[in-house]
Amino acid sequence: MDPNPPATSRRLCDERGSEGLPRIAPMDESLWVGGTLTSMPGASAFGIFSRLVRLNALLPRDLFRAFGLRLGRDDDISQTLTFSGARMASFARSLGLEQAPTTWSLDAWLPFRSDKQLFHDPWKFRYCPVCLRIGYHTLLHQLPWIKECSWHKVQLITQCAKCGANINVKPTWTLDGNLRCGGCENELLDTDATLSATQRCPHRSGECVESYLGWAERARVKTVLLSPDAGTASFAALADLVSYPRSDEEEGHTSEEVEAQRRSDSSQALDLARNLKLLEVVRKSRPGFLHIPENMRRALSNVASNLALKLPPHVLTAREMQLFLAGLGLALPASFKGARWPDTSSITLLPPTGVAGDQYLDLTCVHPASYGAIAQLIDAVVDNSLAAGDLGQLSAHEARILLNACRAVLCSGYAQGLRCALSRYVPELYSMARDRPHLTEPWLLVVFSRQELVRVLIRQRPMMLRLFGEADALEHADAANRRRPTVPGKKVPAASVRTKRSG
Ligand SMILES: [Zn+2]
Ligand SMILES: [Zn+2]
Repeated sequence: MDPNPPATSRRLCDERGSEGLPRIAPMDESLWVGGTLTSMPGASAFGIFSRLVRLNALLPRDLFRAFGLRLGRDDDISQTLTFSGARMASFARSLGLEQAPTTWSLDAWLPFRSDKQLFHDPWKFRYCPVCLRIGYHTLLHQLPWIKECSWHKVQLITQCAKCGANINVKPTWTLDGNLRCGGCENELLDTDATLSATQRCPHRSGECVESYLGWAERARVKTVLLSPDAGTASFAALADLVSYPRSDEEEGHTSEEVEAQRRSDSSQALDLARNLKLLEVVRKSRPGFLHIPENMRRALSNVASNLALKLPPHVLTAREMQLFLAGLGLALPASFKGARWPDTSSITLLPPTGVAGDQYLDLTCVHPASYGAIAQLIDAVVDNSLAAGDLGQLSAHEARILLNACRAVLCSGYAQGLRCALSRYVPELYSMARDRPHLTEPWLLVVFSRQELVRVLIRQRPMMLRLFGEADALEHADAANRRRPTVPGKKVPAASVRTKRSG
């Protein structure tokens, strides 16, 4: 049926994955005009679909007969053909493939391991206008950390480049009108350009796609993404968190650092183990008080006293103020003017509490998204250590990176929780620009090198508060915790940090 069979149509695609299987499936016997996949390396299912619909003059009512696809009028076809395994399989069979190529699924493109379905909610079709004009789209263009088309150097967009209208990717087109802008009639996919490009993919696209997929595959082995349970804004979070390419020099340098620090840290291993052990409490469904690990004391006390010193006069009593400053050993400022009402126990419990030389933090004022992330992080690092053998022990250097990351997550969770909890009594906080109560949730990228933890990258994204304000959200989370059973997790044994480098 193809009026112009490509001269290279017998050539199998030679781009191969690590298992020797073709990554980009060959498809030379297609019944469809423009159905030769080899000319479109790494194309997305939706890209191939859109091309075939246009070149074969298909209408939405033809989709079941042609591709075995039953779609509702409101279905986003680009989303369906990215996330629905059953629909991808039907489409693949209709093209004469035994199964959907791996590059149709997002998993092949992610440079990390994750147990969550990312980008699904919300999903937006994103494309390079130059590529799409000739009927080429790839999931590479859907990835938030890829900002421009690798070969055209054009910014990737989600709207019409001419008029800014939203792109219609629903099965509602009229003849020859799929991917035509509803606002300005701009042809996002041009029939003539697509026909003449049947034998010619975008210049160097095969190379770029293959080199990206190779990088992602290598990065997946050593990188784990830890995302919030209810997190939906994965696109924005990951645009910040992931960078491509990550240079090899940088990684080599880090490994040397690991070696140097590992030697100097071994004497502190016991303290590190004790500090990690104290964090076990975050696994409880309602953790209560955290015995603050030594490496976090100063940072948490800083959070409390910095905020207290910024509050307007007459909102804290002298004793409350004293408790906020106690962690840093500061005295009441001479100019301090305290409120004249009695102390409020809910406020006196907010700053870290000193007992017999130790400090404790009431975790009721920290949102579970923050201490939950700490539990997830410890599990991920312990899992990796167990997988690496060596009795599941962490090196002193790993323990230190882990504790520092936990401190960063806890400090920002505490700083936010403190403002939210305090706002019940100090509504003035809502008019303090930088200290306005707000809640975020952490996204963590955990990087291992030679089976050792080398880096934890943290990005905070605003939390979606559907029904509650900030102060209510904290109380609601605490009430939900009362009803929830304790989450089982991996225990960090007391002696799990190696005191000596053991090979
Ligand atoms: Zn392009
Ligand atoms: Zn337009």
